[in-house]
Amino acid sequence: MLNYTAGGLYQVTDGVYQIRGADLSNMTIYRTDNGYVIHDPLITKEASTASWEFAKMHLPAINGEHKITGMIYSHMHVDHFGGSRGIVESGDFAKDALIYAPKDFIKELADENVIAGTAMGRRANYQYGTTLDNTPKGIVDNALGLGTTRGEVTLVAPDREVVEREEVINIDGIDFHMINMPGAEAPAEIVLYVPQYRSLNTAELTYDGMHNIYTFRGAKVRDSLVWTKYLTELKLRFVDSGLVDNIHAAHSAPVWNNPETEVNEISQYMTLQRDNYGFIHNQSMRLANHGVTINDVGREIEKIVPQSQLNTWHTNGYHGSYSIMQGR
Ligand SMILES: [Zn+2]
Repeated sequence: MLNYTAGGLYQVTDGVYQIRGADLSNMTIYRTDNGYVIHDPLITKEASTASWEFAKMHLPAINGEHKITGMIYSHMHVDHFGGSRGIVESGDFAKDALIYAPKDFIKELADENVIAGTAMGRRANYQYGTTLDNTPKGIVDNALGLGTTRGEVTLVAPDREVVEREEVINIDGIDFHMINMPGAEAPAEIVLYVPQYRSLNTAELTYDGMHNIYTFRGAKVRDSLVWTKYLTELKLRFVDSGLVDNIHAAHSAPVWNNPETEVNEISQYMTLQRDNYGFIHNQSMRLANHGVTINDVGREIEKIVPQSQLNTWHTNGYHGSYSIMQGR
């Protein structure tokens, strides 16, 4: 929680940094041979500009400058690309720097933000309380972050969509394993494995709470079965095999393994996150097959939530809910 209330620049590990608490989402910064790669430039140009300027005050100059050597959009929700112009126009964006995005980024972005944009924008105002003031009776937080910034939402189109299921792309000396994991939290989304930093960036497939399957704002329904399979894959390939010392994401704080103990805390975290979405899928379908209707599934499922999920703070419903269908 400290990471939300005390917004600022945080080190995930030597070479990986995050701006947290400046917007709904995190801006992650990876050091490369000659500069820095920006991952997810927040919602607005104002927020990304201020965040990068702040980061420059604290991150070391490389060859006497803070060059931006590339930018990556994890997915096509606005909190992950809206500040793109602030980065590209910062004066630090290298001439040969490229912008990377998941497969179908522009197509899916248009679906949600243009074709359904007006309706979804209106509903998002209610979901996020966008117009509430920062007063004791106004906004408290948005669960995913402290709030959303207001300003100019921009899009600099990516130079390259990662079209293969998985591609290893070297940006200024650092290998980024970009893995497409669409249809879970977003219709187009990539996670990153960065071996140099023994880091896994799960994009928005993990977050310190239960995420939405069907959002209030009306985004495309997420496939919780696919979601749970992706988390199993990431856990087995990168976490349980000992390839990473930290995972970090587009929201919330990272998770680290404590070298003093034998416990694989990241694996435990991934297991509980994974099980949460598997539980939602399996029990929703079991109840539906038993004749429970859509209006009652939420009420019925709440009676059988496993104690392991209830007892764990990062699988509770600050943002998503089992009980969405209980509204009258
Ligand atoms: Zn997000």
